[in-house]
Amino acid sequence: MLKLSLQWKWFLGLTGLLVALLLLVILCLNMFLPPFLMKRIQQDLERNGRLVHHLTAPLLAATPLNTNEVNNLAHALGRQVGLRITLIRRDGTVVGESDKPPYELAGIENHLLRPEVQDALNRGIGVARRHSDTVHASLLYVALPALPPGAYAPQGVVRVGLPLHSIAETTSRVRRIVVVASLIVALIDIPFLFWLARRYSAPIDAMRTMARRVAHGDFAARAPYRVSGELGELGVALNDMAGQLETRLRELDEEKAGLAGILSSMTEGVLVTDAAGRIRLINRALREQLQLTDEAIGKTPLEALRNIELEQLIASPAARELTFLTPGERTFAVNAAALQNNAGTVVVFHDISRLKQLENIRKEFVANVSHELRTPLSIIKGYVETLLESPPPDAATSRQFLETIQRHSHRLERLVEDLLNISGFESQRAQLEFAPVGLRDLADAVIEELAPQAREKNMTVAVEMPDALPFVRADRERLRQVFTNLLDNALKYTPDGGRVGVSARLAGEEIECCVSDNGPGIAAEHLPRIFERFYRVDKARSRELGGTGLGLSIVKHIVQAHGGRVWAESAPGQGSRFCFTLPRA
Ligand code: ADP
Repeated sequence: MLKLSLQWKWFLGLTGLLVALLLLVILCLNMFLPPFLMKRIQQDLERNGRLVHHLTAPLLAATPLNTNEVNNLAHALGRQVGLRITLIRRDGTVVGESDKPPYELAGIENHLLRPEVQDALNRGIGVARRHSDTVHASLLYVALPALPPGAYAPQGVVRVGLPLHSIAETTSRVRRIVVVASLIVALIDIPFLFWLARRYSAPIDAMRTMARRVAHGDFAARAPYRVSGELGELGVALNDMAGQLETRLRELDEEKAGLAGILSSMTEGVLVTDAAGRIRLINRALREQLQLTDEAIGKTPLEALRNIELEQLIASPAARELTFLTPGERTFAVNAAALQNNAGTVVVFHDISRLKQLENIRKEFVANVSHELRTPLSIIKGYVETLLESPPPDAATSRQFLETIQRHSHRLERLVEDLLNISGFESQRAQLEFAPVGLRDLADAVIEELAPQAREKNMTVAVEMPDALPFVRADRERLRQVFTNLLDNALKYTPDGGRVGVSARLAGEEIECCVSDNGPGIAAEHLPRIFERFYRVDKARSRELGGTGLGLSIVKHIVQAHGGRVWAESAPGQGSRFCFTLPRA
């Protein structure tokens, strides 16, 4: 169907209304004008009849009657007032007839029985509309009894007549005038109506377009505001509304962006489900922690994470520790809270895997320390008790016992020293005093200190460093401990007659230093763990040699505190090489 614009609808509507009104006017005129005109004409005819009566009644009453005079008067009056005038005697003889020549007067039929004549004589006035046989035309007659002054009975009848065709002519002329006037009104009004429809429909059209644009999200759209009256006010209200919507939406957008920013920068994982229990949102942290992708959106947490405990937690929100197996084992403190109006649930995942790990390490450490302390202590206690027994052992045995007690006391001392060192680093209380340190001097000094040990095992220690080796930036005493621990291990674990080497070279901005030996080497499975606290390849042998299991761990702590790296290269039977880097001074 043809879709008309608002302007055309209004224009056609208004034009239709106008045409209908004009037709109604014409219809009313058609209905009411002819009877009204007829009545007016009849009244005119009556007045004219009375005038004619006034002029002719005395003549009709005169005796003898001068027929010529009467007939002439009828002719003269008929011409002047434009009516047919008939003067009739009491007996019905026509003595004056304006529409017939005088010579035909005698031939006119007696009019006594004409209804208007009868009415005039009997009722005082007679009105009739009928065909006249005398003049062969339809006429409207008004007849009055001729009552000249002084007469008591009618002396005849005075009749005036108007041809009906002249009445119809008048009516149709009036009708024509009305129709022409209506057409003129319509022609003048149509452009005006067109203008009117355009004037009021254009702003409405513009507002409709604007409202549609706003509905589609274009909040910059504005209605025309230079319109007066209610339409103008409507436009202003619409513009206000669009402006408010724009502001509100901008605020919402900003809020959303802020929220998204907070969510994505959170280190805690966040998962939000909708009212149907399907995942609506997962933040960046959770994606990384549990290796989730957008595929999880729209699924239930059970489908996406395969964890029945999480499903139960979401069903009855609470806080709980949960372990997930993807990708590796991770423990989370999970907090679930229902959103308002049952709109879903927010679940926050706090990764406590590291805390758990640290707690385990701490427990293990305490157990290790206790174990390490208990062995020498129980040995010392045993020997002391034996020495105190009576009778006391002989002098040689006592000395042997005392030497054992001394050895284990030394071991306890070393252990406590090493532990203090480590705890100092872990609590980061140890302040390093950095200064340029020459590695060759330091290595030489440590080798000098350990010379008796080397001599005892008949071992050689060679230092191989370029003369122009730059100084390193280090805490001299700590670095001395690194050399001591590494050289001590090399001398300890390498069999008699072995060789130990200390080398250093410049590598970029760092200096790489290595302590190597041609001892038994370390199997590949142990290599990654030898820097851990209390880790020993061969526990019994280490203890026997006076080791605490903490030497390499201390080395690692010191080197890392200097900003360097430490590693070991070794293979069984191939000797070992312990290397570390330090920044140049
Ligand atoms: P320990 O006090 O037992 O020497 P460390 O932390 O110094 O403790 O060393 C850890 C373990 O690494 C030792 O128990 C030993 O098994 C192994 N190890 C260290 N240095 C060497 C080396 N030069 N040759 C062979 N094994 C070594």
